[in-house]
Amino acid sequence: MKQQICILGSTGSIGTQALDVIRQHNDLYEVYCLTANNRVDQLAAQAHEFKPAAVVIANEAHYGRLKELLSDEPDIKVYAGAAALEQIVEAQPVDMVLAAMVGYAGLAPTIRAIKARKKICLANKETLVVAGELITRLAMEYHAPILPVDSEHSAIFQCLVGEDMNEVEKLLLTCSGGPFRNFTAEQLAHVTAADALRHPTWDMGAKITIDSATLMNKGFEVMEAKWLFGIPADKIQVLIHPQSVVHSAVQYADGAVKAQLGVPDMRLPIQYAFSFPQRLHLDGPRLDLFSRPLEFFEPDMRKFKCLALAYEALNKGGNMACILNASNEVVNAAFREDRCSFLAMADIIERTMQRATFIEAPDYEAYVATDAEARRIAAEML
Ligand code: NDP
Ligand code: MG
Repeated sequence: MKQQICILGSTGSIGTQALDVIRQHNDLYEVYCLTANNRVDQLAAQAHEFKPAAVVIANEAHYGRLKELLSDEPDIKVYAGAAALEQIVEAQPVDMVLAAMVGYAGLAPTIRAIKARKKICLANKETLVVAGELITRLAMEYHAPILPVDSEHSAIFQCLVGEDMNEVEKLLLTCSGGPFRNFTAEQLAHVTAADALRHPTWDMGAKITIDSATLMNKGFEVMEAKWLFGIPADKIQVLIHPQSVVHSAVQYADGAVKAQLGVPDMRLPIQYAFSFPQRLHLDGPRLDLFSRPLEFFEPDMRKFKCLALAYEALNKGGNMACILNASNEVVNAAFREDRCSFLAMADIIERTMQRATFIEAPDYEAYVATDAEARRIAAEML
C-alpha cells in the first residue's frame, strides 16, 4: 500500500522538492492532495503530473482559472478557500500531511491534521513558533507524530535515534550566518531585499530567506527545537557555520557529540520525515570533506538583534512568540517590497512586543486575536 500524502504548499521551495522525492519513490508514496495560494498554473501542472484526488487553491479568486485548467481531469476534485484547505487534511485516505505553507497561515490546517491523527511532516516552523505549547500538547493527546523537515531539526532528530532516554546536555544548532554575516552595522543599514535574497548556501522561499538574513530564522529554530525535543532554550547553542555542512549536533551527558553532516539539500530531511525510520536512496552529490575546512563562530546578537528578540520572546513565554512572529511577517513582507529598511525590521518587532497585549496562558482564540493585534501595531509603525 502506498502512503497517501497531502502537501500543503506544493508550489513552494519545500513543496516542489517534496514532489521530487515522491517522483523518485513513486512505488512508496502517492500524492492525495496538492495545495497553493496564488501560483495556479504551477498547481495545475503539478496536478496533471501527479493526478491527486484533490487540489485546493487557498486564494478563492483563482478558483475559476484552476477549474478551467483542470477541466480535462474529471477525477481531480477542485476546491478553494482556507476552510477547504483545513478540511482536506482530514480526508480519510491521507496518511501524512507535509505542512509546507509559509507563515502563520499554516497553523490552522496543521492543528486540524493533528486532530485527525495524521502523521505530520513539519516544515512550517511558524506553527511551533506561534503555538508550540498548544501544538505539542495536541500532538500528544491525539497521538499524531510530528517529524521535523527543517534541516537542523532533522539533523538533531537523526542524532537522537537510538539514544532512547539518554540524557542530552545540549543541542548545537548550526546557522550559515546568512549573506550579511561579516557586514558592519553601517553596511547593514543599506542592504536591500535583492541583496538578502542571495543566500550563500540554501535556495529557499523569499520569506525564510529574509528571516535567514536577519537571523530571525535561527531564533525561530531555537523555539522549534525547544518544542520538538523538549529541551530548554538555555541548553540550545547557536553556532555560525558558514559552510552548512554540519546540519546540527547533540551533546550527551558523557560529552559525546553526535552530528549529522551532508551537502545542503532539503530533499534529504523531507525524505527522512516521510520514510523514518528507514533510509531511502537519494540521488545527488555526496559530501566531499576534502573540499573546504569547516568553521564555527559565535553569533553576534547585537548586530543581529532579531535573534536576541527571539530569545527574549522565549523567556517571556505566553503569547510573546506569537507577537514576535506576527510583527516579523509584517516587516519581512514590507522589506521585500522596499517599504522597510533592514535595521528597522528589528526595531518595529521590538516595539510591537512592548505594545501588544501580553497573555500568560493563551488558548487558540487568544493566538488568533494576538496575531491580528500584533499585525495591526506593526503595520502602523511602517
Ligand atoms: P515558499 O514561499 O517557497 O512556498 C510557500 C508555499 O505556501 C507555496 O506553495 C504558497 O503558495 C503557499 N502559501 C503561501 N501562503 C499561503 C496561504 N496564505 N494559504 C495557503 N497556502 C499558502 O516557502 P518555502 O517552501 O521556502 O517554506 C515553506 C515553509 O517551510 C516555511 O514555513 C519555511 O520556514 C519552512 N522551511 C523552508 C525551508 C526551505 O528550504 N525552503 C527550510 C526549512 C523550513 P503559492 O506558491 O501559490 O504562493
Ligand atoms: Mg533550518
